[in-house]
Amino acid sequence: MPPAVDLGRRCARALSVTRWFSATTTSDYPSPSPSPSPSPPLPPPIRVALTESAGRGVFATRRIGAGDLLHTAEPLVAHPSLSLRHSVCYFCLRNLKSETNSGFCSDECIDQSKGFYEAEKKIDWSAFDDYCRTQGLKYPLLVKRLACMVMSGEASAEILDILQPARLQSETIIRHVLLSSLTQMEEESRLMRSTFSKAGFKDEQMNFLTKQWYTGVLARIRINAFRVELIGGLYEDLFLSAAASVDAGAAVGNAVYMLPSFYNHDCDPNVHILWIDNTTARLKALREIEAGEELRICYIDASMDHDARNALLFNGFGFVCNCLRCSSGD
Ligand SMILES: [Zn+2]
Ligand SMILES: [Zn+2]
Repeated sequence: MPPAVDLGRRCARALSVTRWFSATTTSDYPSPSPSPSPSPPLPPPIRVALTESAGRGVFATRRIGAGDLLHTAEPLVAHPSLSLRHSVCYFCLRNLKSETNSGFCSDECIDQSKGFYEAEKKIDWSAFDDYCRTQGLKYPLLVKRLACMVMSGEASAEILDILQPARLQSETIIRHVLLSSLTQMEEESRLMRSTFSKAGFKDEQMNFLTKQWYTGVLARIRINAFRVELIGGLYEDLFLSAAASVDAGAAVGNAVYMLPSFYNHDCDPNVHILWIDNTTARLKALREIEAGEELRICYIDASMDHDARNALLFNGFGFVCNCLRCSSGD
């Protein structure tokens, strides 16, 4: 579990609906004795619908067994931690066996990165990266990658608009959501614009790169980014047990997903999100779930006490938790 100070949920490229998630359930796993006429994989047992009080939520469409894999998800945008730039794949965050010249783990990742990497390579990012490093900032790196994806035509500038917060009406909300001042964000967006400009990008290519765009994207990333922690070899154990807590490795980076962002929070969640060896997120049931039940994940370290959890949820995500566990004072 992450340290309490990390507000990123622990818990790019979904350019079309079909790539939001893979229709993977545990029934897709090869069985020891394959049947002669395999039935087609079932669709994921979930649907997104409005909840009574928390906006959108994800619900079970059928009974789900403890330990079942509900679905997987690929990130809309991901970025490695700066300190791991040369030890994990620049696209999928897989640990590199040895430092490669390319910085990617496979030809497939090189291929999938072509768009943003072509744009990124033309630019001297040292000032922007130094700024993030000295300020201890990770989310502007996701904005940088997204900007390069937009520049290359690989993603739309509005790709994150569907995620919360839907509205950023006032400076108070922005400041609350971002825990940083508008002045700082203005500085960051100016720095990003001048970085592109120095590399010869034209104003018309940077039309989208306004202060409002930067702020809106950063706010959505802050609320929705997951800290990617790889569990690697623990995979087998993990699927055999329905345990919620695993000792995951250190974070390799951060990523923003579409469907996983629609899951609401619960301090006693029935679903867990985990990563085996790259940014492919797996959502797994922690216990038996009935059809129609809301599926929830825990955004923070569930082992913290009531007051610590609620301070973190309020400051980081802007809500007061009224889950059963919090209501009972636990
Ligand atoms: Zn890779
Ligand atoms: Zn709670």
